[in-house]
Amino acid sequence: MRYAMTMDTRKCVGCSDCVVACQTENNVPLGYCRDWIVEHTAGTYPHLDMELRSERCNQCDNTPCVRTCPTGASHVIEGGIVKVTPEECIGCGACIQACPYDARYFHPDGYVDKCTFCDHRVKKGQTTACVAVCPTKCLTFGDLDDPNSDVSKLLRDRKWKVLAPEAGTKPHVFFLT
Ligand code: SF4
Ligand code: SF4
Repeated sequence: MRYAMTMDTRKCVGCSDCVVACQTENNVPLGYCRDWIVEHTAGTYPHLDMELRSERCNQCDNTPCVRTCPTGASHVIEGGIVKVTPEECIGCGACIQACPYDARYFHPDGYVDKCTFCDHRVKKGQTTACVAVCPTKCLTFGDLDDPNSDVSKLLRDRKWKVLAPEAGTKPHVFFLT
């Protein structure tokens, strides 16, 4: 089992429904977020290309956030999901510094928080909150080890990229282009 997500940059309309659904599902405090929308423009006028991306923790295979955590609070669970145990986190911020994607934030209650691929929902056979609400269906979640999963098929059929591949983190959120 290796969970992954695809995000279709051609379908995203930047509505932020995924952000709001995540905040509600995961009790993210007001003013903070576990996922966010990025608007990226490339090229030069008049040949501009705009891309909208729903971003979150990339649930990397090679995890600087876990390696730098001095207490073991940051750890990897089944399916490659990277999590933080709040009770073990001392709020040192080493993981925030180590993450090349700025995917973690200080929770006002004194620990570091981030996307968990909604593992509490996945355990019950549900998909993530962001995937469930996306009105354009641009987000897909599933098992990369299953060749018949929707994520596996999309990665076979479409062109894709990961963010900051030069960081060597082996991200498991893939952006369909
Ligand atoms: S995106 Fe950042 S927080 Fe998430 S697993 Fe990768 S390095 Fe760690
Ligand atoms: S802030 Fe918490 S999770 Fe992050 S490195 Fe420090 S103890 Fe580990």
